[in-house]
Amino acid sequence: MAGRGDGSPKRVRPEELTAESPLTLPGFFAALSDGRLLGGRCDECEQAFVPPRPACYACGSREIAVEEQPREGTIVADTEVARPAPAFAADAPLTIAVIELDSGARLTGRVAADYEAVEIGTPVELTVRELTDREKEFALDHEGEWPLHVFEPA
Ligand SMILES: [Zn+2]
Repeated sequence: MAGRGDGSPKRVRPEELTAESPLTLPGFFAALSDGRLLGGRCDECEQAFVPPRPACYACGSREIAVEEQPREGTIVADTEVARPAPAFAADAPLTIAVIELDSGARLTGRVAADYEAVEIGTPVELTVRELTDREKEFALDHEGEWPLHVFEPA
């Protein structure tokens, strides 16, 4: 079906934006739980973005194709978080980075490496895991079943 992950662009009608749609966060995380990282690609300007959205944030077009994203990318910005939110305190310090996937889409996530061990340009690969019990304690009710993405140095 067009616009539902087969890569063909189409204009989305508001009534199609259900929790099953990959254009909503519940649909996005359901796919991620199945190991599929979905993104959008604008049919007008070719901008790729994660998660998929009903409209392109570069040009405003609503002709968006939903595509599975590559797991490989590189760090384009990174920082160390010494005092993260309580759910992640046991893992401090955390390395957090903006990753540009090989599709051109960018997303932020944890990197499973010391801050000193990575730099801009370091290749990484996406992994997905369930939340730990401690992380679930701090998650909002609707987030508890959503997986966490973590990038590993490739
Ligand atoms: Zn666009």
